[in-house]
Amino acid sequence: MYEKIDKDYVLNTYARNYVNFKQGINATLYDEKGKDYIDFTSGIGVSSVGHGNARLANAICEQAKNLIYTSNLFLIEPQAKLAKKLAFLSGFDMATFFANSGAEANEGAIKIARKYGERNFNNKKYKIITLENSFHGRTITTVKATGQKSFHKSEFSPYPDGFSYDHNIKNIYKSIDDETIAVMIELVQGEGGVQPFDKKEIQDLAKFLKEKGLLLIVDEVQTGVYRSGEFLAANLYDIEPDIITLAKGLAGGVPIGAVMTKHKDIFEPGDHGSTFGGNFLSTRAGLEVLDILESYKNSGLLDESFLYFEEKLSEICKNYPNFFTEHVGLGLMRGFRCKDAETLTKIVKACFNEGLLVLKAGKNTLRMLPPLTISKDEINEGFKRMTSALDWMS
Ligand SMILES: *Cc1c(COP(=O)(O)O)cnc(C)c1O
Repeated sequence: MYEKIDKDYVLNTYARNYVNFKQGINATLYDEKGKDYIDFTSGIGVSSVGHGNARLANAICEQAKNLIYTSNLFLIEPQAKLAKKLAFLSGFDMATFFANSGAEANEGAIKIARKYGERNFNNKKYKIITLENSFHGRTITTVKATGQKSFHKSEFSPYPDGFSYDHNIKNIYKSIDDETIAVMIELVQGEGGVQPFDKKEIQDLAKFLKEKGLLLIVDEVQTGVYRSGEFLAANLYDIEPDIITLAKGLAGGVPIGAVMTKHKDIFEPGDHGSTFGGNFLSTRAGLEVLDILESYKNSGLLDESFLYFEEKLSEICKNYPNFFTEHVGLGLMRGFRCKDAETLTKIVKACFNEGLLVLKAGKNTLRMLPPLTISKDEINEGFKRMTSALDWMS
């Protein structure tokens, strides 16, 4: 019934699957008929503390009863606390600007880089190098920053200047010219196919850029907030970027974006802003999510989960060589490289029919981003359903 309303009244930008979810409990979703689904997607890495999380719901309710919004012209206590918490958990002496999405956080990062280039060099440095198969957002600027030609549709042109794309990390060195100010990368490409980069290569690049006085922007919209197993993938890679962006999992589903930088004095009033960014509701939600996940990590439960998840991936990979060539990723950001794109589409559909939600990424990667709080039982049940789906296809 709502399918027709959706099609009549909502603009057609998503290849939607018309299941009507009514409720969620941790990594399990229930549709209107009461059928349950194990959620290996957390809504593309967003529902980091699971669905229906009581602590998050209570924090949001309490905050909503008091204050949802004033404006950034006044102090916002949970915003200040969340900024401090981000610095503490990352271990980086950084200050944060709050936005409402990943793309917006990346817009902020690009503005910081451009101002830095203007302020610190005699010639105008404004160019930003990104990587092929990257994904940085859907605004006109961040879609241009995205290194996938298929996203640069001509009907939306003209796009802003100042972006170029390299095939891999090694090629970046040759592409840096006198107008380059920054390199912007994901440490594990998410949309591009759950592709982690080599630690040493990243550390060498970070060191090189630092020596040249150029900026390293790490887009942690997907990898951040414990998705990689550490608070930031930058922590896992043992680098200290100049700018880090966060969004997806940060407030457990409440819209939020954040750009952190160690160049704390870069902006002055009027340089940047947002009506909704950093409001009481989203930052209070962010604080609760970080509290939940910090203790989850410290208790060892997060590490246990991703090691257990990894075991299951190895098993499936070994048992179904006709479908999968390898498993990829880290933490709870995982994937299977599939034989071909067509088979992948069929597997995603078969999993759905068995009551398991998984995602596609890149051309041939089956992607899994379960809630970080997924239980062992849910992991078992999810892979059981995946096995049924694969057996059905065999
Ligand atoms: C999802 C994503 C974005 C875009 O975030 P939105 O909230 O959709 O704007 C940017 N970068 C990366 C790495 C992402 O995964």
